[in-house]
Amino acid sequence: MTVRGTAVVIGAGPAGLATAIALRGAGFDPVVYERQARLSAEGGGLTLWPNGLAALASIGADREVRERALPSPGTAMRAANGRTLYEMSAADMERVGGCGVAMHRGELVAALAGRLGSDAIRFGATCVDVRSDASGATVGFEGGERVRATLVVGADGIRSQVRTACGLGRPLRYGGSTVWRAAVRYRLPELPGLLTLGGPNQFGIWRLPGDRVYWFASVPAPPGRYRSGQSRPPEEFARWHDPIGALLDATPTDEIIVTDVYDSGPLSSWSADRVVLVGDAAHPSLPHMGQGTSQAFEDAAVLADRLAAGSDISAALRGYHERRRDRARSAWAQARMLARVGAWRGGFSCWLRERMMAAAPARVQAGQLHRMFAFRT
Ligand SMILES: Cc1cc2nc3c(=O)[nH]c(=O)nc-3n(C[C@H](O)[C@H](O)[C@H](O)COP(=O)(O)OP(=O)(O)OC[C@H]3O[C@@H](n4cnc5c(N)ncnc54)[C@H](O)[C@@H]3O)c2cc1C
Repeated sequence: MTVRGTAVVIGAGPAGLATAIALRGAGFDPVVYERQARLSAEGGGLTLWPNGLAALASIGADREVRERALPSPGTAMRAANGRTLYEMSAADMERVGGCGVAMHRGELVAALAGRLGSDAIRFGATCVDVRSDASGATVGFEGGERVRATLVVGADGIRSQVRTACGLGRPLRYGGSTVWRAAVRYRLPELPGLLTLGGPNQFGIWRLPGDRVYWFASVPAPPGRYRSGQSRPPEEFARWHDPIGALLDATPTDEIIVTDVYDSGPLSSWSADRVVLVGDAAHPSLPHMGQGTSQAFEDAAVLADRLAAGSDISAALRGYHERRRDRARSAWAQARMLARVGAWRGGFSCWLRERMMAAAPARVQAGQLHRMFAFRT
């Protein structure tokens, strides 16, 4: 294949690595620049959904990811006392597109980096500036190095420097809650991916490969109050259903990651001249749908597809945004709605929430999931 140009990708997270793999398939010569000294093993676990896996398959990177992930036999929602509020079995999930899988974030980026090849990643390179014009873009790095490329991809996460440098950003908005999370060695029997609601607090449990479990606890709190490695979720969770207390007991404080969650309103454009955004940089969203990484993989697959389809790069970047914006906006809106409803407090509101969940027609819920899981470039 003739090389169509060079691509600089800023950020070696899931979005950047998947995009670099996809761009190579579209005829570009990509190099990923990452500010950290090595691939990040941080982030605990995460869930990937059929749309994300389909997008990975379309860029030829699903096999190494699936090898390190554990499929979850369905999903369920429970009350703090363990009562099931809502459940979709593995068979129900297969009918709407397939089951989710859970994996460690560090293993996801390792799998993608392995697929890309380490010679295409530069570590310790912090992007501080991007200048774009009609024929290419130039990235400035801390320390003064400058690199010019045919295409620059901002895959530098929710606080994207590339987005700011290109004037594409909107202010981030605090989502109102702090999330504690960890991946811990713990043996659990097979169980669906679980989300438990108690007042305005939430607790999630997903089994990972190799007798490990990913858990997260979400609590309304002012931003900045709690710090990673120095705080634990409120004691209240220890009184919730099994095995929540045991999982917390099994987790050392210094292994707990704490994140205040933010999103922003949808951006009006995802590109400027030869600079384009993917992943959290393009659509900062709350994590409540567990869709962030799957959406990032959709970005990678669609961007490469549009670039491969024609020689006009600017038209391809516009086509990418047109194709992706509605799906990304839908995931963003559903996450925001779940965050809002999940934070309801008080007896009546929580009773109403449970009634709404029990009463929502299975047909409607299945239809929503079906649409979300159906990925096409
Ligand atoms: C609490 C929580 C739970 C979540 N759970 C899930 C889940 O279960 N499933 C799911 O799919 N998603 C989940 N997400 C969202 C998911 O983590 C993100 O959507 C995903 O990581 C986005 O990938 P990304 O590559 O766009 O950004 P990131 O993962 O943030 O990667 C960005 C990369 O860019 C690098 N970088 C940043 N700035 C620069 C710079 N100036 N120069 C060079 N490099 C730079 C960073 O070091 C990083 O490596 C969760 C998020 C949170 C906060």
